[in-house]
Amino acid sequence: MISEDAYDYLFKIVIIGDSGVGKSNLLLRYTSDEFMEDSRSTIGVEFATKSLKIDNCFIKAQIWDTSGQERYKAITSAFYRGAVGALLVYDITRKPSFYHVDQWLKELREHTEDTIPLVLIGNKLDLSDVNRAVSTEEAKQYATDAGMLFFETSAYDSTNVNDAFETMFDHVYTELS
Ligand code: GDP
Ligand code: MG
Repeated sequence: MISEDAYDYLFKIVIIGDSGVGKSNLLLRYTSDEFMEDSRSTIGVEFATKSLKIDNCFIKAQIWDTSGQERYKAITSAFYRGAVGALLVYDITRKPSFYHVDQWLKELREHTEDTIPLVLIGNKLDLSDVNRAVSTEEAKQYATDAGMLFFETSAYDSTNVNDAFETMFDHVYTELS
């Protein structure tokens, strides 16, 4: 059991992307292993935390969610301040949410250091067979060109959720140490 109080590093991570792509559920899945069918009004947390250990360091990850403020430019600089990593989420069944990654990336760059690790996440992978609108190849190419890590996830069935967060934390840790 890792103590909630003692840690060597505090990692502030932000999750951004269009409304409805599954940001809050990714956070909920990662920190509580839960899912909510209709989460929009019920989840309004500012951030959730998770304690982890990399090498011999105790790390407290503080993951900030937008709590419904996803309109472009509506998020304040306090939200981004001090972030050491970011997850940019789109919905693989909604093409516009993928096109908007450009704007999210631009906004992120205005508020954070250029060197922080970024992860592009295509969420709702469980709907891939019937509703996919963004190909894996297209998104992977975008991520490569932008210098981002890339995962397709499902907050619904948990696919790749831990991997996406943990790979991000590994990169943040490497960057800081
Ligand atoms: P946010 O606005 O980006 O925080 O998105 P939410 O987490 O509130 O999710 C929006 C809707 O998509 C909700 O109805 C969720 O139940 C649903 N949802 C989120 N993640 C997934 C997923 O991985 N698969 C499926 N099928 N639905 C999801
Ligand atoms: Mg949300």
